[in-house]
Amino acid sequence: SETLHIIGGGMAGSEAAWQAANAGVDVVIHEMRPKVGTFAHHTGNLAEMVCSNSFRSDDDEQNAVGLLHWEMRAANGLIMATADRHALPAGGALAVDREPFAQTVTDTLRAHPRVTVEEGEITELPTEGKWIIATGPLTSGNLAESIRAETGADALAFFDAIAPIVYAESIDMEKAWFQSRYDKGETEEEQKAYLNCPMDKPTYEAFIDALIDSDKTQFHDGETAKYFDGCLPIEVMAERGRETLRHGPMKPVGLTNPHQPDVKPWAVVQLRRDNALGTLFNIVGFQTKMKYGAQADVFRMIPGLEDAKFARLGGIHRNTFINSPTLLDDQMRLRSRPNIRFAGQITGVEGYVESSAMGLLAGRMAAAEILGRPITAPPHETAMGALIHHITGGAEAKTFQPMNVNFGLFPPVDLKGGRRNRPARYKGYTDRAKAAWTDWLAAATEPA
Ligand code: FAD
Repeated sequence: SETLHIIGGGMAGSEAAWQAANAGVDVVIHEMRPKVGTFAHHTGNLAEMVCSNSFRSDDDEQNAVGLLHWEMRAANGLIMATADRHALPAGGALAVDREPFAQTVTDTLRAHPRVTVEEGEITELPTEGKWIIATGPLTSGNLAESIRAETGADALAFFDAIAPIVYAESIDMEKAWFQSRYDKGETEEEQKAYLNCPMDKPTYEAFIDALIDSDKTQFHDGETAKYFDGCLPIEVMAERGRETLRHGPMKPVGLTNPHQPDVKPWAVVQLRRDNALGTLFNIVGFQTKMKYGAQADVFRMIPGLEDAKFARLGGIHRNTFINSPTLLDDQMRLRSRPNIRFAGQITGVEGYVESSAMGLLAGRMAAAEILGRPITAPPHETAMGALIHHITGGAEAKTFQPMNVNFGLFPPVDLKGGRRNRPARYKGYTDRAKAAWTDWLAAATEPA
């Protein structure tokens, strides 16, 4: 059968190669390291962890990333099996001894009879054959330019500008209200696309002080701390002038607070619906380099967000990623060139675990297609399905930014009277997901 070529032997490319090879397809991994390096990688090993050594929570009953671990283990995932083999004690988290981890992934793949590793950078989008592009957040410049030429400049980003995302259910609706600025939008749906949180003058002044005083993260050496307009960190806007935010993302115009119709707010924080389900809202214009701990404290000063639960905190990083909702079909194929799939962080997921997960799916899908028995995308109720559904369809394309797995991406579970019982609800999500994933795996591995 046809050979599968994978560009990038990181988290996603390694897992994709393993899955496809085990399905019975010959695989070539094209990895540019050690010939060509990046500012974050230090070795020539496959699956190098570039920063923290944590796979985050390993709780597969109460945590969405723990559930993703479970699903990958059930699918004979190489990254998870190797992480388990080199696990370090870390409470409820899965921490990994990074050097032996990457070495074992490298040795295992190099020893696989169906896998070949070719060293060297691929500089252009391939025109023929079956390919998976898994070149990650630090995709080399040449290849990125070639992708950009195919997708259009607006559809490939070099930095992420992540605004914090809040679970809708944790927003205090006694203080916040739904309204789009100047009531734009015809349908009720469009009217409910924005949530607003009002600020009086003293709250605004205290908020500006907190932004300026907060702990911030620095850019890495070589990461180029160059901002572009429209993506300045909120604390940098605050430093430029105390009124900047009130005239920018927090301007209080075109909005009326139904809780206090006679009081004109001094400033308004707007949140925009972040997914089709309406379970997640991002804080508009609040991309930030504040440290995570500082973010939660500062953002909970916003009236209506005192008890906010964050699905994701904000950030700005060097990060190459494509606009998957417009560019990819539900098989992770580039619509304009269906012989090419994308996998890993470049698809707009975030993190080692999520990237490996998207590699696992892309590897299986590509192999199934080559072997003439294509498989469907996993159900939305699974962690895998929730992620792929989000990046290939569920997310708002216009404001698409990288995403971690979280329960807000899943169709809500229906627990009678149980909405307030969070452990029961999360268990509901994970039980449902495990059953659906088990069924999907069984169907996907049925002999032809
Ligand atoms: P990678 O693991 O980066 O793999 C991509 C591979 O493609 C690399 O080996 C690269 O050398 C290769 N490549 C690139 N271009 C080409 C080319 N043209 N030809 C051939 N090969 C090519 N995630 C976390 O979960 N925790 C963290 O703490 C964390 N910290 C990070 C810190 C930094 C500075 C960066 C940049 C990212 C960080 N991430 C972190 C995100 C992390 O990089 C990803 O989650 C994960 O590594 C992505 O997997 P991937 O396979 O998509 O990309």
